[in-house]
Order: sequence, then C-alpha cells, then structure tokens
Amino acid sequence: MTLKNEEKSQAITRESFKKGPTLHMMRGYTEVVRTHFSIDYNSDQSVQCIHVEGKWLNSYEAEEYIKQFGCSNSPVCHTLVGYASGYYSEICQKSVYFKEVSCKGMGDSHCSYVGKTLQEWGGRY
Ligand SMILES: [Zn+2]
Repeated sequence: MTLKNEEKSQAITRESFKKGPTLHMMRGYTEVVRTHFSIDYNSDQSVQCIHVEGKWLNSYEAEEYIKQFGCSNSPVCHTLVGYASGYYSEICQKSVYFKEVSCKGMGDSHCSYVGKTLQEWGGRY
C-alpha cells in the first residue's frame, strides 16, 4: 500500500505522539494513561492545534516530593510537565503547554494533565 505524501506525514506524526509516553514509562518516571487526543492540521499539513489529556499514575516526582516535603498545595511534577511540553512542541513545531489539573503531590490519587497549543488555552497559559 502506498500512502500519499500527506497521509504519510500524518501517519509519522501520529506515531511520534505515541512515543512520548513510552519514553516516560521506559525511564520509570510514571505510567501514562491518555484519555483524550485531538489534533487539527492546516492545509499544508502543519499542526494547527492539539488537545491531549490524560493521567500520570505513580509519578516518581510526586512520590519523592511527598517523602521530602509532605503534601504540596500546587502541582509538583515539573519534570513531567516540562518534558511533555517540550516533546509535543518539538513534534508540532509550535508551542504546546502542559499543566497538571490534579497532582499526587497535592494528595490527589493520581496526576492529571492537559496539554494544548497556546491558541487552545485561549492565548493565555
Ligand atoms: Zn503530579
């Protein structure tokens, strides 16, 4: 089966998105469960906007934080958020920002993240 060029580039991009969570898990930082993924492309196949949501289970960063400092009143998984933001921004070739909406470091049962392009955040992050 031969893919047209544009289909091929989308296939490659979708494959790339799956590798980020895999790398996280291989490094033993966390277990990733993605609950939402949507992406829109411009007519030139560049990424127009992206919206992903999911959970980080057993975040190593949150567990270490709690051991050392106890419960936080703000999310603590800066490495996970930074890694995800950097990874997605690189693939999309535009700024994608992740933030945690719940965090094990705050006493929540797991960490939940939302990642969107700046436009999807309403221009404010
Ligand atoms: Zn967290």
